[in-house]
Amino acid sequence: MRTSRLLVALVAGVILPFTIAMADADPLEVGIASHAFDHLGDIADQAPAAAASGATVIYCTGFGTVGYAGWPTPDKLKAIGDTTAAYIRQARTDGVRLSIGYLCATSIVGLDSFDRNWPAEFRARFSSPPREWLQRGPEGKPLPSWYGGDYRPACMNNPDWRIYEREMVRRQLEAGCDGIFFDNPTVHAQGCYCDYCMKKFAAFLSSDAGRTDLPAVTDMESLRRFAAAHPGDFLRFRCTIAAGFLSEMRSYARTVKPAALVTCNNSLNSPELLYSQCRTYGYSINDLSKVEDLVVVEDMASLPRTLKDGTIIEYGPVYEVLQSISHHKPLVAVTLADGDYHTPSNLMRLAMAEAAAHGASYLSWPTWPQGVRQKMIAAVRPQADFLRRSADLLNETRPCLDVALFFPVRQWLGGPDCPALQAARALARANIQFKVVSEEDLAESLAADRPPALVVQSPQVLNAAESTVIDRYKHDGGHVVWSSEKNWMDQLAALSQPSVILKDGPPGIRVVLREKPHKTIVHLLNLNVERISSFDDRVHPADDVHLILRCHGDVPTSIVASSADPEATVGPIQFTVTKEADANVVQLAVPRLFISTIFVIQ
Ligand SMILES: [Zn+2]
Repeated sequence: MRTSRLLVALVAGVILPFTIAMADADPLEVGIASHAFDHLGDIADQAPAAAASGATVIYCTGFGTVGYAGWPTPDKLKAIGDTTAAYIRQARTDGVRLSIGYLCATSIVGLDSFDRNWPAEFRARFSSPPREWLQRGPEGKPLPSWYGGDYRPACMNNPDWRIYEREMVRRQLEAGCDGIFFDNPTVHAQGCYCDYCMKKFAAFLSSDAGRTDLPAVTDMESLRRFAAAHPGDFLRFRCTIAAGFLSEMRSYARTVKPAALVTCNNSLNSPELLYSQCRTYGYSINDLSKVEDLVVVEDMASLPRTLKDGTIIEYGPVYEVLQSISHHKPLVAVTLADGDYHTPSNLMRLAMAEAAAHGASYLSWPTWPQGVRQKMIAAVRPQADFLRRSADLLNETRPCLDVALFFPVRQWLGGPDCPALQAARALARANIQFKVVSEEDLAESLAADRPPALVVQSPQVLNAAESTVIDRYKHDGGHVVWSSEKNWMDQLAALSQPSVILKDGPPGIRVVLREKPHKTIVHLLNLNVERISSFDDRVHPADDVHLILRCHGDVPTSIVASSADPEATVGPIQFTVTKEADANVVQLAVPRLFISTIFVIQ
């Protein structure tokens, strides 16, 4: 819960004209979509600054605060609806295409006063008062919130809480929102043992084949004891609760507005939490993404950059891991440095380019203090415009695969370590072109894409069906490398020539190769950007970067570079081509890479 950023304060913004016509494109496509939270602490309602910096999708408050803090008087409630509607109308005029309204999926703040202003006819819709809606511990008693203070966690399975949340969904959509962002779809760290969760837990286990040891669904005490005694089963169930809630909210939202979008805070405050957030708070991106229209991740630490000691931080491999469990939904991430919601402009431009290279969209916080607002808008806008102009190069592309990396996401139940994430990072560091394949997609991916090599942690992580699929892949000439072996990267290097060889570049250069019919798209990213403060950074450009690329298809006749960076080399690039058995080996030198450049080879 980021309550501080929900405090409403009207701030006068500056409206710049928004002239790019893009009415026909899918508003969530990579490049077309530029996402932005419009509020941070007492800097609220920043749609004008967001739109001026190129944002087209905003996440706004509307009824968000009253949703968890309790209703004001009826006239004030109506005023919030009117203000929200006017705010969204103006944002649309400024170029914002989607306004996603905030709602908290679990929080009740001030339980005693929460329902104070409810009209009688509204109160009559509930079978129990709000104090009965809370998540409960193993003894059946209400649990305190993980936030402490006046917060109490409502249970997403409680039918009265769902009625209440549906009402807030309706109000947001009728005020003009195009969808809902549910914050905190959180199951308590102890798990919720309320009657509704226990009944659903029993139903969840009944659907597990052969399960015959369940207590009667009417015997709550026995079900609670059973849940406590079967932590693995209970953890798996907890990871389905938020998805069930979102699914109902999405179905309801679409009765109000047929195209309504539903997403949530998928959390992942840092990549290392991918498994532990499933285990602790029931945040399973693999489950949530099945029912979301887009997948939004809020990382607090992984803004791509180079630290003073030379450590390079990047989010590219995390995007690839997340893509594999996002069920082809648009992936959106905000990446911050050191938990600071402000990001200097060059680093924001780098983060936007990095997301786009990996088929995702960046989510920004254009909630800048007045003194730096114009400077930030002027610096960020060209990158947003560049990506929008380049949208055709960013969508419906295929990776040029050196390797597929198997990601058995079910491993979260075994512990917090995610070996596939470590392997993805090693591949990215070496500029090896890879795709992450989840357990749902393994068979299809090996059959359809035929990657030259497959990286798997070890034979022990495979189930019988996966072992069979992999045996067939090996029989047909595929290579398997076990990443638990010490020299696995050397084994991989010995198998074949990689698609990308980077010569004479500093360590922070990343190359991402994608293909479309008759063209190869090369994303060149320079992670050698240092963060100085909230609004200052330092770019270390890379000069004379030599690339050797193995491209497929027709012999290329042109390479053209484009970039939003005025300092970068753009236009036609000199190159040579050598024909190999199954590839055209292209060599080129890039005189200057500043933050990011896209090359089109055709
Ligand atoms: Zn519950």
